[in-house]
Amino acid sequence: MLTIEGLSRHFGGVYALRDVDMAVARGELRGVIGPNGAGKSTLFHLIAGHLRADHGGVTFAGRRLDRLPAHRRAALGIAIVFQEARVFRGMTVRENVMVGAHAATRAGFWTAALRLPAHAREERLIRARADAALARVGLDGWADRPAETLPLGRQRSLQLARALCAEPRLLLLDEPASGLRAAEREALAGLIADLRRTGLTIMLVEHDVGLVTRLADRITVLDLGRVIAEGTPEQVRGDPRVVAAYLGE
Ligand code: ADP
Ligand code: MG
Repeated sequence: MLTIEGLSRHFGGVYALRDVDMAVARGELRGVIGPNGAGKSTLFHLIAGHLRADHGGVTFAGRRLDRLPAHRRAALGIAIVFQEARVFRGMTVRENVMVGAHAATRAGFWTAALRLPAHAREERLIRARADAALARVGLDGWADRPAETLPLGRQRSLQLARALCAEPRLLLLDEPASGLRAAEREALAGLIADLRRTGLTIMLVEHDVGLVTRLADRITVLDLGRVIAEGTPEQVRGDPRVVAAYLGE
């Protein structure tokens, strides 16, 4: 589903990502872990097209993405939930999710974000998709509330629904559990496991290594922009390089 070859990106004199190779199978849940500054968010931004690579490339479902802008990659089926994701204030939960369906077209995104009148039939279709996405994350019943009134755990579910509304084939989740309480974290983990069971390919960056270990089929460990280990959760957990990278944090 996703092949990454020799991917590199620097900021000034610092290599955020250096010569990274990775292959993610269709339907896989790939965990990506590593200490702060390891390059995890940079990797996701390079896949989603929010950053350009210095070297190397990304192939998605047989197609080279390197020259495609983010909205074209979204149209091909790549959705990302950003580490610093926020909800749009002053919009309802449903309106927030509808923005996700429009994200695949640049004009459509602004139509939704600014609430300009769109074609009525298309609008009805997207509304139905938004409601389906809300149901998938357990937010049916919350659709008409102002988004900013949701507790943080529910806001994370909303961000997930927004990504799902674009009907992605690859979902990139960057630290979706950060700041959540234990019960919210468990609910989110259950939701991610459900999505994986529907066949969606997921890449999960998470600070909570225990959570990644429970959910992932395979884990890639980054440190200082390089892949230092990769394998099943059991293989990675016992790898001395991984232990050393975390102890050095
Ligand atoms: P992680 O998500 O694993 O914590 P990041 O990908 O955010 O790591 O960052 C990797 C490295 O690249 C860090 O050293 C960080 O300071 C640097 N970096 C990331 N984004 C930028 C940027 N926009 N400008 C300058 N440096 C950046
Ligand atoms: Mg990050």
